[in-house]
Amino acid sequence: MLIETGVGSKRGSRSPAGAGLEETGQLLEALAREGIGPRDVDAVINTHLHFDHAGGNTRLEDGRPVPTFPRARYFVPKGEWEEAQRPNERTRATYLPENFEPLDDAGQVELVEGTAEVLPGVRMVPAPGHTAHHYLVELESGGELAIYLGEVAQHPLMLERVAWLSAFDVLPLVNLETKKKVIEKALERRALLIAVHAPYPGLGRLVLEGDRRRWLPLSSQGHE
Ligand SMILES: [Zn+2]
Repeated sequence: MLIETGVGSKRGSRSPAGAGLEETGQLLEALAREGIGPRDVDAVINTHLHFDHAGGNTRLEDGRPVPTFPRARYFVPKGEWEEAQRPNERTRATYLPENFEPLDDAGQVELVEGTAEVLPGVRMVPAPGHTAHHYLVELESGGELAIYLGEVAQHPLMLERVAWLSAFDVLPLVNLETKKKVIEKALERRALLIAVHAPYPGLGRLVLEGDRRRWLPLSSQGHE
């Protein structure tokens, strides 16, 4: 299972280099180093369909975009799928049809509504604000919880300071409310947080110091 596919390796205005993301777009190489080939992936979760999160859903074959993972079911929030079909002036630069239409053509899309356990212990949970139908992913195992934040917060500091919101949020005040709920759950469950836009590996926990929240990167907590 993969959560998100990053910016991808296709060339164009939103290619890694075109978007100033020269060091990204190497998902397949990174998987290969772990001994995982494209046919080994049977589930791909999309938190939303912005190009920097869903670009690797497809790759070019003879100049045509095709699903990168030919055996995978691609889980996509239903509302996000619909938004991406009818982008507006604000969103059309990031909803690139080549990143999701080939999945539909191949019959590999599974649309998700509400909270959904898509695999045992893997829940897609609505987390609106960054987009109207943005999702996060909860991973539950052995009584412990990890939360893949998607774009609930781009930087861990935005969890420490709840009013700090991204200009990329389509509905910032909605994301503010989402973030408060996620923070409460993260503190209560001592959840491991996966912050996708933070420097690699982007893992850490929120802790309370007095009444202030502080981000503790996993590397500063020793081995767990
Ligand atoms: Zn986004």
